[in-house]
Amino acid sequence: MARPTKASIDLAAFRHNYRVAKAQSPNSKAVAIIKADAYGHGAVKLAHSLSEADAFGVACIEEAIELREAGIKQPILLLEGFFEASELELIQRHHLWTALHSQHQIEAIKRQPESYNFNVWLKLDSGMHRLGFSPQDYPSAFEQLSELPQVDNIVHMTHFACADELDKSMTQSQLKTCKATLAQLKTQTSSFANSAATLAHPSSHSEQFSGYTRPGIMLYGADPLLHPNSASKQLIPVMTLTSKIIAIREVKAQESVGYGERYRCERNMKIGTVAIGYADGYPRHAKDGTPVMVDGIRTQLVGRVSMDMLTVDLTDIPNADIGSTVELWGKNVKSAEVAHCCDTIPYTLFTGITRRVYKEYSE
Ligand SMILES: *Cc1c(COP(=O)(O)O)cnc(C)c1O
Repeated sequence: MARPTKASIDLAAFRHNYRVAKAQSPNSKAVAIIKADAYGHGAVKLAHSLSEADAFGVACIEEAIELREAGIKQPILLLEGFFEASELELIQRHHLWTALHSQHQIEAIKRQPESYNFNVWLKLDSGMHRLGFSPQDYPSAFEQLSELPQVDNIVHMTHFACADELDKSMTQSQLKTCKATLAQLKTQTSSFANSAATLAHPSSHSEQFSGYTRPGIMLYGADPLLHPNSASKQLIPVMTLTSKIIAIREVKAQESVGYGERYRCERNMKIGTVAIGYADGYPRHAKDGTPVMVDGIRTQLVGRVSMDMLTVDLTDIPNADIGSTVELWGKNVKSAEVAHCCDTIPYTLFTGITRRVYKEYSE
């Protein structure tokens, strides 16, 4: 690897964060969400590193089969269920669990051989209005499934729209809808909580709604809460994205740096060019002032991000030189800070990392 641009993935931190999720929800098992190639971290590697996982969650059957073919044995949940009835044979063969959110999926299950034994996660639309049966239709969907020989087990599932905001009443209102809808139904194994709810809304995985939490982003060490709490402060970043300084120059006051002259030097400055750009997944719309760390010292991005390079201010880091290590985000520069400067969230930073970035795994 000649180009020094890499994502170092700390597998011990990933396991630590899973244990934080488990410790927060003693009444439940935890489905480790590793969709989208484990939020850009590498799903097969991460799944292998977490043999203690109760189950894994992915978005679609292609992601699930990749894990099965790599030898992953734990249950795997398809969070969006299946898109075509033809997937059901594979779901049966690979022992996958599937979400169900629409009547057409129930009809497809009815047409399968009676010897099939599906584990289904029936999704209630408790207010997010993206996927799931309405509270009015949910009991009938549940009753239909209960009577099917092809269905072995049903888990009640919902998803929160605002679990990251503690003072919003939305989560409480969604929980109330869940409680009222499930009250008359038999099975009470539930799965409501994403990372934010796992950390901040204990009532969403209390004994009454015990079953499975579904932590995703927290496993990668990014705090999903707008206001960190004692549990979320225990999380350790898993990915550290680094590159190196490949060129240094002095730029005079009033001269500009990079495309479009976006950054104009306020004084005579020392500018470092770093081998990472938007084609690696570093956002092009990162603002001047976005934090980076050079040889352990915090400084900032200056100038527009190019496809393969970006430029940083080294004026106050006299020892910085060609070959100095630059951390774009990770253990020192929090992904949330960088995301904030890019008007986005850590999820898009992680999933945006491209193939060109070398991934290095450490135990
Ligand atoms: C992605 C996803 C999760 C995980 O969400 P985080 O915010 O990353 O914890 C949980 N449940 C469902 C249905 C999802 O799609």
